[in-house]
Amino acid sequence: MSTVRIALAPGDLVFREGDAPTTAFLIEEGRVDVTTEREGQTIRLATLGPGDLLGEMAIIDDAPRTATATAAEPCLLLAIDRAAIGERLEQADPIIRTLLESQLRRYRGALAAMQGRGGAPTPAATPAVSASEQLSIGKFRLESQLREALTTRGLDLRLQPLYEIPSRRVTGFEALVRWNHPERGPISPLEFITLAEETSLINPVGEYVLDAAIESLRALRGEQDVGPFIGINVSPRQLAETRLIERIVERTAALGVSPDRIKVEITESQMVDYPTVRRLVKRCHEFGIKVAMDDFGTGYSNLGHLYELEFDTVKVDQTFPRKMFQSPRAMALLRSIVDMIHAIGADVVVEGIESERQLAALAEMGVRYAQGYLIGKPLLLPDALAFETGAFSPVDS
Ligand code: C2E
Ligand code: CA
Ligand code: CA
Repeated sequence: MSTVRIALAPGDLVFREGDAPTTAFLIEEGRVDVTTEREGQTIRLATLGPGDLLGEMAIIDDAPRTATATAAEPCLLLAIDRAAIGERLEQADPIIRTLLESQLRRYRGALAAMQGRGGAPTPAATPAVSASEQLSIGKFRLESQLREALTTRGLDLRLQPLYEIPSRRVTGFEALVRWNHPERGPISPLEFITLAEETSLINPVGEYVLDAAIESLRALRGEQDVGPFIGINVSPRQLAETRLIERIVERTAALGVSPDRIKVEITESQMVDYPTVRRLVKRCHEFGIKVAMDDFGTGYSNLGHLYELEFDTVKVDQTFPRKMFQSPRAMALLRSIVDMIHAIGADVVVEGIESERQLAALAEMGVRYAQGYLIGKPLLLPDALAFETGAFSPVDS
């Protein structure tokens, strides 16, 4: 970023209406008058002083200057290069950029009307909405519909069975949320969880999932007192902001379910905030809640996570079983990952199991849990209950 200091005497011009924008200015000392012409008359729009930004508007929306700026007294300005602003705008949250751009458009419209330039802008005079603006507006719409879905129970929970290979039984489930959108049909959590994570909306969505999952546990009583466990996915923002553990403890107590039937799943790529995750794992264990590292083997695969954080379970990402019979290297890696996780005393779940051949290979490796379409797809509660008989075995069927 290049910055230059400019000293001006009273009456010196900073820029003139209609000029192409090259620079914005930060006023360090003195005052600057911002004026416009209407029917031969000079109208003062504002007088800016130390700390104020000047001329940034034309840079942000890449349009000619809409007013003239003149030093009203001796001034010292800091020139901010157009590229430096552009770079920051590029990096800005697209939603914030859209808000800024639409605000500027409104301001320019009002200014044009005041200057007698055509009153209300015609559609042709209004700059077309850019693709990124459309995307941002689409996000706003989706976000407000998601808020509505929370109140109208437009979200539902699916339960995907986890098969315990040695006992040949389904002994747990993973809670996977679905949004039944009124116009678009079911929307994948991959789309709306990311959206919810961009705002605090993830908190009510997370609470909704948590409450629904614990309610399902009550229904999934299992045989005697040892019912199946349920894995609940949590987002980084939930870890940082919500009373996640307190809520689990309160809700399980209220419904008479033991908290050791809950397994919190944290994606490996979320481990960036070590102290928060470490605290979470420790507190979960104080209450008997289990913790799983999700999607191991994708992206970050930092072995430090494995020994520094005491996970009860590690879930190996579906990319490994998908490639295991095509690539001897993928098979060798999967085997080593399984051995490594066993060596630290954690359970292994391998995700994305779609064939009996894959399941047999996992059994041979000594993997405890398999999850995937072979065992069952994510199901609504009544269908999940059918797995509870304990008689199910994909190998026998
Ligand atoms: P994940 O935790 O890795 O969940 C497993 C995903 O793989 C699920 O997709 C599941 O439907 C899919 N899957 C399971 N078995 C198979 C298989 O055999 N083959 C194939 N091709 N796919 C299989 P889904 O439900 O679309 O969820 C996607 C991701 O969204 C999840 O990945 C999880 O990261 C996130 N997610 C889902 N529900 C929640 C939630 O309640 N809260 C949060 N924070 N994230 C959630
Ligand atoms: Ca998961
Ligand atoms: Ca996963």
